[in-house]
Amino acid sequence: MVQIESIKKVSIVIPVYNEQESLPTLIARTSAACKSLAQPYEIILVDDGSTDDSAAILMRVAAQPDDSIIAVLLNRNYGQHAAIMAGFNQVSGDLVITLDADLQNPPEEIPRLVKVAEEGYDVVGTVRANRQDSLFRKTGSRLVNMMIQRATGKAMGDYGCMLRAYRRHIVDAMLRCHERSTFIPILANTFARRTTEITVNHAERAFGDSKYSLMKLINLMYDLVTCLTTTPLRLLSLLGSVMAVSGFTLALLLVMLRLVLGSVWAGDGVFTLFAVLFMFIGAQFIGMGLLGEYIGRIYHDVRARPRYFVEKVVNGQQVENTQEKEQR
Ligand code: UDP
Ligand code: MG
Repeated sequence: MVQIESIKKVSIVIPVYNEQESLPTLIARTSAACKSLAQPYEIILVDDGSTDDSAAILMRVAAQPDDSIIAVLLNRNYGQHAAIMAGFNQVSGDLVITLDADLQNPPEEIPRLVKVAEEGYDVVGTVRANRQDSLFRKTGSRLVNMMIQRATGKAMGDYGCMLRAYRRHIVDAMLRCHERSTFIPILANTFARRTTEITVNHAERAFGDSKYSLMKLINLMYDLVTCLTTTPLRLLSLLGSVMAVSGFTLALLLVMLRLVLGSVWAGDGVFTLFAVLFMFIGAQFIGMGLLGEYIGRIYHDVRARPRYFVEKVVNGQQVENTQEKEQR
């Protein structure tokens, strides 16, 4: 059994993109929630290149003598996950909690997350009870979550909710992954040994609209899939094989029917053409799948994720507690 390490400091990371209306309430509520913690805390607000007053508000708040609030300003809009990574770079606590700036994730849940993490979990995920989003978003999320569960085998029900807690060693591991597009909850789970999930409340967006347009959502979904797996590339070969085999079977069938039932079954050669066509298209897909296999390997190498992370090396009376997290 792994020895549970106590939490000495809690860091909150919040990405902010054009959220000037919600910032005052957000900061007040988050600070109040953190003050009720037993541990010291810091709140890191990352401005993701906002075009409204968000950056100015953040700078003003961070300049105040209370040193628990840190503002990080990015020079332009890089996206939510990149902004969170920028925040991760500044953390000094040993439990890191992320949440959204739009008040959809109630900051009051922070103490509960800390309490659950203290039980020895590397990652504490959350499921949104009564999720307050459009039907389109909810259905999309449900499909994606189902797919991820299949692919990872990890029983986590809601990857879209960013109110999450990560132990410091998980954050450090994520910072050493050099790929440009990441989906943080999934990346974290690839490094976590013990994960759990709790149910949290979800509020409606208080101000403005979602910062994700349809294009950005599609982009996010691709980030998620590519962060998770290279299986789609492999599917090309599979599809090609199925096509080639069915083309070949059709050709055989046509030859047999022609021989047994006579020339009426030749269908003026149209079906024969189809059979030949399918075989060629299938062969092309197999070729593409082969290219995909190479690209998948190149992608793995270019990402240059460390081969493993050592969590701890113990030398002494204690049992060796080194864990190698081989990346597959
Ligand atoms: N966000 C960001 N950069 C972006 C888009 C969003 O930092 O390019 C932040 C945003 O300010 C919010 C969080 O990411 O704190 C989630 O965004 P949003 O609420 O728009 O997403 P949704 O709740 O619709 O998934
Ligand atoms: Mg939101």
